[in-house]
Amino acid sequence: MKLLRHADVLVCMDDAAREIADGAMAWRDGVILAVGTSTELAPLAEDADEVIDATGCVVTPGLVNTHHHLYQSLTRALPGAINVSLFGWLKRLYPIWARYTAEDVFAATQLGLAELALSGCTMSSDHHYLFPDGVRLDDSIDAAQGIGLRFHATRGSMSVGESKGGLPPDSVVEDEDAILADTIRVIDRYHDASEGAMLRVAVAPCSPFSVSTDLMREAALLARDKGVMLHTHLAEDADDVAFSMERFGCRPGQYAQDLGWVGPDVWHAHCVQLDAAEIDLFARTGTGIAHCPCSNCRLGSGIAPVRAMVDAGVPLGLGVDGSASNDSGHLLNEARQAMLLQRVTNGADRFDPREALRLATRGGAKVLGRSDVGSLELGKRADFAVWDMADVASTGAWDKVAGLVLAPPVQARDVFVEGRAVVRDGDLVQVKRAEVLANARRSLDRLMTFA
Ligand SMILES: [Zn+2]
Repeated sequence: MKLLRHADVLVCMDDAAREIADGAMAWRDGVILAVGTSTELAPLAEDADEVIDATGCVVTPGLVNTHHHLYQSLTRALPGAINVSLFGWLKRLYPIWARYTAEDVFAATQLGLAELALSGCTMSSDHHYLFPDGVRLDDSIDAAQGIGLRFHATRGSMSVGESKGGLPPDSVVEDEDAILADTIRVIDRYHDASEGAMLRVAVAPCSPFSVSTDLMREAALLARDKGVMLHTHLAEDADDVAFSMERFGCRPGQYAQDLGWVGPDVWHAHCVQLDAAEIDLFARTGTGIAHCPCSNCRLGSGIAPVRAMVDAGVPLGLGVDGSASNDSGHLLNEARQAMLLQRVTNGADRFDPREALRLATRGGAKVLGRSDVGSLELGKRADFAVWDMADVASTGAWDKVAGLVLAPPVQARDVFVEGRAVVRDGDLVQVKRAEVLANARRSLDRLMTFA
């Protein structure tokens, strides 16, 4: 059993939104045994193998990332893709991505997950749809297992290349039968449906503009047959909606509904351009959204109607999106950006920092179909982040929980997943930071020769 105590504030994120001053928490075998004040849990100290002092810190549930393309961590700030919107941005990047090898996917995934872990994330999904030169989903899963984060790998895909009216070049698309066969392979090999699972798999065609209607429909049938979740990009910007109207004769929400892509086992990235009827559809069906505000800003996609979505009851979590359209993988930054954007459109009293923090933790867990993480309560998994609020940029915050979101995003002091340390004193525990950087540098040097 391990015990953490003397947190300035322990943010439970439970139904009662409890925040415990001088908070403490005990856990064993990855499961939370007790949450309370340090005085209440003092008798447990005798039997603890380790006692962690969190004086000066805020403790929160681990942050949950609902949308990423970890392979993009090696294509940040790429010249030619800096000042363009979605379709132009993709066209600049596709030829570089087409040169990736298995080692590059491993290195990029490791780098992106290290960045997430160091900034307090305990669970991430990864939308991986790029499979050139023998790359397999297994390469990203190997990297995740090394870092120690809870991981929802998604078997993405692109099948409609330029020659068939799609956006990606033919060199990065796959045959649809091969996509479905490999999706079945990775689900059977890796998906763990049990409570406390460290690894799950979902089915995730890249977007309506890069796969066929048949594949969207088949993917939904396969996911239901296997009992796994479905994920894709939807209604990201005005071009995306225009493509849907022209190609399919309907808006993205209608397209999703017609193909079985709504329900509590589905989450869509972005949904910046959903209209009122589509928000109602998502709310009625419990369809989830991965809101990625920094990426939406970077690509000029617009401001998602998050206030309206949350008020309507749409399950909504935060995502950093791939590092080619955000250049950063810090979920506190997304929480801050989400809050700021909703204040721009709705007013300063219409989005509280605590609400943003809830989306970044419990909101994301719900979107990914997890009721075993996202809050610090008896019986939940011990996934949490310890934030030192006594450093230069945080000192001065009177309300430390609000300060965590309002002030510039800080790095986590400690991060635990399933009760095991992933970050201690600001550094990675399960892999060496130098090794992650060396792997990334090696791949980057090679990829840069294709600029
Ligand atoms: Zn994305």
